[in-house]
Amino acid sequence: MPGSSLNPLRRKSSLRSGVKTLRPEEVSGTEQNPRYAHASVLGPDPSLRPVNADTGPGKSLQRSETDTQKALQALVEDDYDARRKDHISHFILRLAYCQSEELRRWFLQQEMDLFRYRFNELTDNLRQKFLDHVNLKFEAISEDLKNEWANDLCASTPGLTMIKVKEQMFYKVGLADAVELFRARRVFIKDGFAYVPLKDIDAIVLNNYRTKLSKALALTARSLPSIQSDERLQPLLNHLSHSYVGPDYSVQKNTGKISLEQIDALSVKSFPLCMRQLHKALRENHHLRHGGRMQYGLFLKSIGLTLEQALEFWKKEFTRGKVDADKFDKGYAYSIRHSYGKEGRRTDYTPYSCMKIIMSNPPSQGDYHGCPFRHCDPELLKQKLQLYKVPQSGTNQILELVKGMHYQLACQKYFELTHDVEDIGFSLNHPNQYFAESQKLLSGGREVKKEPSHVGNSQQKSSGQESTNSNSTPTSSNTATDAELEGLEEYFAED
Ligand code: SF4
Repeated sequence: MPGSSLNPLRRKSSLRSGVKTLRPEEVSGTEQNPRYAHASVLGPDPSLRPVNADTGPGKSLQRSETDTQKALQALVEDDYDARRKDHISHFILRLAYCQSEELRRWFLQQEMDLFRYRFNELTDNLRQKFLDHVNLKFEAISEDLKNEWANDLCASTPGLTMIKVKEQMFYKVGLADAVELFRARRVFIKDGFAYVPLKDIDAIVLNNYRTKLSKALALTARSLPSIQSDERLQPLLNHLSHSYVGPDYSVQKNTGKISLEQIDALSVKSFPLCMRQLHKALRENHHLRHGGRMQYGLFLKSIGLTLEQALEFWKKEFTRGKVDADKFDKGYAYSIRHSYGKEGRRTDYTPYSCMKIIMSNPPSQGDYHGCPFRHCDPELLKQKLQLYKVPQSGTNQILELVKGMHYQLACQKYFELTHDVEDIGFSLNHPNQYFAESQKLLSGGREVKKEPSHVGNSQQKSSGQESTNSNSTPTSSNTATDAELEGLEEYFAED
């Protein structure tokens, strides 16, 4: 998610997706269903390359490339089982992601990227078969006509030389189908038709697929009430859009290895933008509202703050503002102990993944939680990036990724630019993964060094402020239940 990535369920099943031909029993209905149609001839999931759920921290993109090759192998081996899983996972995700406008837009974007990748992987021959299969029967113009118009075709189609014009097939396409190319002035138009080279036909096919999938998602959304009445499906569908199956960062390998004095420096060097923003807001305002406290508090816990350190850290900062020590002890301290599993149900809560931050609980005015790549206004994000000395060209690249809803890829780009590396070498799924990878890089592959542990200066002031925190996720997000979440939330009153 990312940002950029499909849900792990989809990515896993897509490892072996794609085959040449559908079995007879599957063929029926494929013409109405672009997904079935394109899945029948197209290759692997594009998210395998940039973002791969199976590529944990430390594993390189090389691994993903290998997976992609395996998936391509499936394309030629007619792997029925893989294709079946791919289809099933698509329809499960369709159900999970049709539930709101935002989820639909995001899912559509990911599916388009997947489709584009698969389509571009096809040979000319397979592309033509695919076009026929999905009933996009564009008529290829004759060689004579092509030779007659060669100059016009070459002049109107960027990137084509006369030699390439001679090699390529050109298709006669109605203007309504070629509207994107027409708008970008990338196609030869004559007598109300566009003459599109095979290399550009993907824009038309993608447009067609987008329209069909968009309609299909709207239709699926309409059938949701009946599906939601099934109590087996409802929890699955509710949680799927922000579920996380990566490494468990609730295991605190570095507990006690970080001193409070290190946090300011670490926030600049090794925190992802979401946590850097929360830390800055906390230092400036001496307060964070409940969404921020939960997101940041659990992150800090997982990078190694002990319960005692956490209590001191938050108390020191809050009592610099409007909260007096007594109020802090009565309200906030309890919720901090609770998040460490020392109160109430004694559940040890795990830090939020990127998907959870991106897809749930959007910040409102006065909040600093959320993912800046997702939740910040682009102009504000640009200013932030400039403030953090991200070069202009890098800022532009990040904004482009954000525009395409590739929030996690934008964050990866931020990592590369702030760590001066060309290739991040891992797929980002979790803020604590960002931190761990940054520390590994900065310390030459070593774990975070322990500094002399002395407790930070405590500056306590007084004044009044309400207590408490908000929602969280239990230690293993895979086994989380709503009941457990509620267990914590009941202690987190409003700010
Ligand atoms: Fe934080 Fe993840 Fe967003 Fe990066 S992508 S800023 S780590 S939530």
